[in-house]
Amino acid sequence: MLVTGGGGFLGSHLCERLLGEGYDVICVDNFFTGSKENIRHLLSHNGFELIRHDITWPLYLEVDAIYNLACPASPIHYQHDPIQTTKTSVMGAVNLLGMAKRLNIPILQASTSEVYGDPAIHPQPEEYWGNVNCIGTRSCYDEGKRCAETLFFDYHRQLKVPVKVIRIFNTYGPRMQVNDGRVVSNFIIQALQNKDITIYGDGSQTRSFCYVDDLIEGMVRMMNTPPEITGPINMGNPGEFTMLELAQKVIKLTGSKSKLVFCELPKDDPARRKPDITKAKKILDWTPKVTLDEGLPKTIEYFRKILK
Ligand code: NAD
Ligand code: UDP
Repeated sequence: MLVTGGGGFLGSHLCERLLGEGYDVICVDNFFTGSKENIRHLLSHNGFELIRHDITWPLYLEVDAIYNLACPASPIHYQHDPIQTTKTSVMGAVNLLGMAKRLNIPILQASTSEVYGDPAIHPQPEEYWGNVNCIGTRSCYDEGKRCAETLFFDYHRQLKVPVKVIRIFNTYGPRMQVNDGRVVSNFIIQALQNKDITIYGDGSQTRSFCYVDDLIEGMVRMMNTPPEITGPINMGNPGEFTMLELAQKVIKLTGSKSKLVFCELPKDDPARRKPDITKAKKILDWTPKVTLDEGLPKTIEYFRKILK
């Protein structure tokens, strides 16, 4: 199994899961946002190989399946070098789809709820085409991922590559980077350090948070479907929370003395987001099991340990 972005948050959990199932895993990562710490415990495993490589450059390997997760996912990180972000999604897709075509193997794309932009339909079903600004500061990620989906479906139609596209909604858990900048890790770290909790805007915007173990289960189920199942399939936890509700939960669970501060809302920040997971339920027999109240304490425990 090839896992690109295997040194990242989701990728490291996926590598672990696949090794646990007895697969040999090649992890490809350029460590832009990932970390060797995420996979250090896997380096001595017989079935694990690590290649430091940027997927915008061609890569020749012999593998049986590809999970393509390489791409910065946090708005702060993907906006740091937006040209590289688009190149990673688009040129990375071309390189890996080329490999999948040469080897005639399945390839799974970690797409995103960001393909729906600031959605005008709620909750978002896969049929919704989205509401995306193509020239904004989030576009490098949103449009990069949209173009990657286009390439996946063209390689499928034109060249019969067995593709699998999942659209991941906000996922959280242990191994998010301390400097990641996404809301769950930010709030937990701020709360544990009794620092101000930074609410962007008035905190009424919503997100639906999926615990990492649930997401990895869905991802593996998707890879194991027959070739005619291509997706796209939404993957996320439909529980919907405002950022204010999230902040209050984190303060309560950490027993923090942090105060809420209200900061400027980033440009094009989606107002609402919630997956319609009817397809995932029906096709993959998958539903997320871990509620936010169960997943947050596990994540808090992780950050408590690494911040010591
Ligand atoms: P992450 O930033 O922790 O992981 C991304 C990994 O990709 C990192 O290890 C990074 O170093 C690597 N990478 C980036 N550019 C690369 C390149 N050009 N070549 C090789 N490696 C590169 O983020 P994550 O949350 O684990 O996300 C993994 C994937 O899932 C991403 O594709 C992301 O878009 C997608 N996704 C995640 C979420 C989420 O909530 N976590 C939501 C939607 C989609
Ligand atoms: N957010 C916030 N405070 C933070 C970080 C993020 O209020 O310190 C908000 C952000 O504006 C967005 C939501 O939390 O509305 C989720 O942001 P994140 O960066 O986690 O992911 P997104 O879903 O926007 O890609």
